[in-house]
Amino acid sequence: MSTAVSRGTSPVPPARQPRLTVLSGPSGVGKSTVVAHMRKAHPEVWLSVSCTTRKPRPGEREGVQYFFVDDEQFDKLIANGELLEWAEFAGNRYGTPRQAVLDHLEAGVPVLLEIDLQGARQVRESMAEAQLVFLAPPSWEELVRRLTGRGTESPEVIERRLEAARIELAAESEFDTTLVNTSVEDVARELLALLR
Ligand code: ADP
Ligand code: 5GP
Repeated sequence: MSTAVSRGTSPVPPARQPRLTVLSGPSGVGKSTVVAHMRKAHPEVWLSVSCTTRKPRPGEREGVQYFFVDDEQFDKLIANGELLEWAEFAGNRYGTPRQAVLDHLEAGVPVLLEIDLQGARQVRESMAEAQLVFLAPPSWEELVRRLTGRGTESPEVIERRLEAARIELAAESEFDTTLVNTSVEDVARELLALLR
C-alpha cells in the first residue's frame, strides 16, 4: 500500500527570495545622493550601514551613514568573521556587517548595499544570487566636477579617489545593470524598480 500523499496538481509557487542588491560606482558619482532620494520616498528600503575606519565628515552621524571604528576594532571585526565583505579604499577600510544583512534577507526584506568594486566582487563570489548595479557618471569631466564640488576631501584624497575611479569605470561590464546618473530622480526611480 502506498503511503504517498497526493499534493494535487496545482503548482505551489516557490517562496520568493528577497533580493540582495549591490550599488557600486566611482566616488562622487552620486550613490549616496540617489539612495537618500529614494529612501526619502521609500523608507521601507533597508540599506546596510557599513563600518569604516574613515573619520566622519561634517554632518555624518554614528550608526546612520556609518559605524565609525578604529583600526583595532576593524581588525577584530575581520578576525571574528563579522563582515560579509570588506575592502581598503583610498586609504581607509570599509566593511559590511554580516548578521544584519542575513537577518533582513531571512525576514524577507530586500537589502541594498552601497559598496565599492572590490566589495561587489566579494559579494558576487559568496552570494551568487545578488544583483549588481553600477552607477556611472554622464562623463569623466562631470565625475571630477562632482567629486571636487562636494568639497569633502583634500586634493590628495580626490586624486586617490579618481585613480580608483578609473579602475571602477573599467569594470562596468562585470555588473548586471548600469544606470547613468544624469538625473537623481530618474535613477532613484530606476533603482527602486530593480529592488522590487
Ligand atoms: P558618492 O556617494 O557616489 O560618493 P555623492 O552622493 O556624495 O557621491 O555625490 C557627489 C556630489 O555630486 C554631491 O555634491 C551631489 O550633490 C552631486 N550629485 C549627485 N548626483 C547628481 C546629479 N545627478 N547631478 C548633479 N550633481 C549630482
Ligand atoms: P566614502 O568614504 O565616500 O563614504 O566611501 C568610499 C567608497 O567606499 C565608496 O565607493 C563606497 O561605496 C565604499 N564603501 C562604503 N561602505 C563600504 C563597505 O562596507 N564595503 C566596501 N567594500 N565598500 C564600501
